[in-house]
Amino acid sequence: MTQNVVEKTPVTLLGLGAMGTALARTWLAAGHPLTVWNRTPARAAPLAAEGAKAADSAAEAVAANALVVVCLLDDSSVQDALAGTDLAGRDLVNLTTGTPAQARDRAAWARERGARYLDGGIMAVPPMIGVEEAGGYVFYSGSRELLEEHRETLAVPAGTVYVGQDAGFAALHDVALLSAMYGMFAGAAHAFALIRKEDIDPTSLAPLLADWLVAMAPAVHRTADQLRSGDYTQGVVSSLTMQVAGAPGFLSTAEQQGVSPELLSPYFALMRRRLAEGGGEEDLTGVIDLLVR
Ligand code: NDP
Repeated sequence: MTQNVVEKTPVTLLGLGAMGTALARTWLAAGHPLTVWNRTPARAAPLAAEGAKAADSAAEAVAANALVVVCLLDDSSVQDALAGTDLAGRDLVNLTTGTPAQARDRAAWARERGARYLDGGIMAVPPMIGVEEAGGYVFYSGSRELLEEHRETLAVPAGTVYVGQDAGFAALHDVALLSAMYGMFAGAAHAFALIRKEDIDPTSLAPLLADWLVAMAPAVHRTADQLRSGDYTQGVVSSLTMQVAGAPGFLSTAEQQGVSPELLSPYFALMRRRLAEGGGEEDLTGVIDLLVR
């Protein structure tokens, strides 16, 4: 009897923190030969017991396989880890969170050393890794060829979303989404602060808040359409004039509830500025132009 065994791409992984360990386990479970290295060797022991090969040095790990994934704390730890390695002919995939500028510099640095480079921004937390229904994915930018060649392997831990040849774009998308998330958390913080001293159970507000944020989220599509067309009055349902008229009510409610307006005020200030510049027929898109320097 003959058996067709499909060889799985071998992977080298540098970095076995919370995220690196989660990534490692998915490749092992999917049958990919895996070589791992971590600065603190003890963290490799459980993975070695599960079938990974633990390299004694980063150089040895990089030499083991063409596909090298790094998931370290920050860009300077990537520099430290890769300093003594030979990257010639390697496909370097950097899943370490960093800035767009760091990614672009790292891409040039890798190219000078003869490696193809793909940068990644992970939109997931470790428990989502390898759990398809959790919806986690990684933004990738840089070498499209590298991604196409290794997409199947890279898709094992999480979905793959390619956002462009510019190596900095994955980090830029990552930061853009997380920045929006912080805006949402800031709004929720203000909402909870408003009811904090009242006889209102925060757990009864939470589902209302979550549903409202979900209902409002699609507004970003209208914003994008307006930015693309340049017509910020297109499809407006809540004019800036109306929204600025309502702003004092938000601020006086905060005052009455003994809540600092420091999260809300800067946004209202921008809305007022845009209104003063003649944006009354728009909704909130004009604020974006005030932010771009
Ligand atoms: P951890 O803090 O758990 O692990 C950090 C890793 O970096 C460890 O392997 C550590 O090695 C290594 N490291 C730190 N400094 C150096 C150095 N100078 N030289 C060599 N190795 C070093 O972080 P995570 O695994 O959680 O995160 C890894 C990356 O993934 C980060 O960039 C993070 O932003 C990103 N990420 C993490 C998410 C999360 O929820 N955890 C979510 C999305 C992205 P040692 O064991 O020796 O300390």
